[in-house]
Amino acid sequence: MSRTGDARMPVIFFGHGSPMNTLARNQYTEAWRRLGAAVPRPKVILAISAHWFTKGTAVTAMARPRTIHDFGGFPQALFDIQYPAPGDPALAERVRELLAPLPVAMDKSWGLDHGTWSVLRHAFPEADTPVVQLSMDAGKPGSFHYELGRRLAPMRAEGVLIVGSGNVVHNLRLMQNRVGEPAYDWALRFNEKVRVALASGQHQTLVDFEHMGEDARLSVPTPEHYLPLLYIAGLQAEGETMAFAVDGYEAGSLGMLSVAAGMPAGWIGGTDTR
Ligand code: ZN
Repeated sequence: MSRTGDARMPVIFFGHGSPMNTLARNQYTEAWRRLGAAVPRPKVILAISAHWFTKGTAVTAMARPRTIHDFGGFPQALFDIQYPAPGDPALAERVRELLAPLPVAMDKSWGLDHGTWSVLRHAFPEADTPVVQLSMDAGKPGSFHYELGRRLAPMRAEGVLIVGSGNVVHNLRLMQNRVGEPAYDWALRFNEKVRVALASGQHQTLVDFEHMGEDARLSVPTPEHYLPLLYIAGLQAEGETMAFAVDGYEAGSLGMLSVAAGMPAGWIGGTDTR
């Protein structure tokens, strides 16, 4: 492997929200652009998306991953989106090596889902950096996902940009349709607790999110959008701070917090509309 000796790459958690953000320009997509522009050019991107929640752990291992349109009821323009970044089978092998003895399936059927491309279209619009996705084992607790993040940390010094894509607060059932609808109180409280834990490095609090009571149950009714954050927390190095890039709420029950650690000096975090 020649991927050694590089400076440590940042790690980023993107709060992706609606797939329609792919086509939008708003405070969130602008923050994603600024993140992409500020990081050192990655050799490859490893993405952990809320939308690849599987039995066991898998990694995309094809040379040319397809763009998956894993949603329904959206305009044709969204189905027309392509994100033609190449894959990187060698990186998939590296992931397997780092996570051993955990079995990691070399997947040839998935591709890039909208959790990944809805944000990368803004952060890396050229789509010329190879992208590999790592799936999350749906049968495992938060501690497992956090630990996997820790085990992937050596890749940060190998030119690999690791990103998680989900949402800290994600309750589709309680979404409001009215534009400008304020966030639910439970969403505000849970997001704030997560922000405090992130800012102060209280990773155990993040891992034990299910112990945060009713606010957590409403904000994280199913874990797949929250868990990518635990990989990013696990990847945070000693002495690094987790800085927020953008925050806000959509439809009352979608938290749009994005955070990053290890960003270059001079990077300025984004807007905060809490
Ligand atoms: Zn999503």
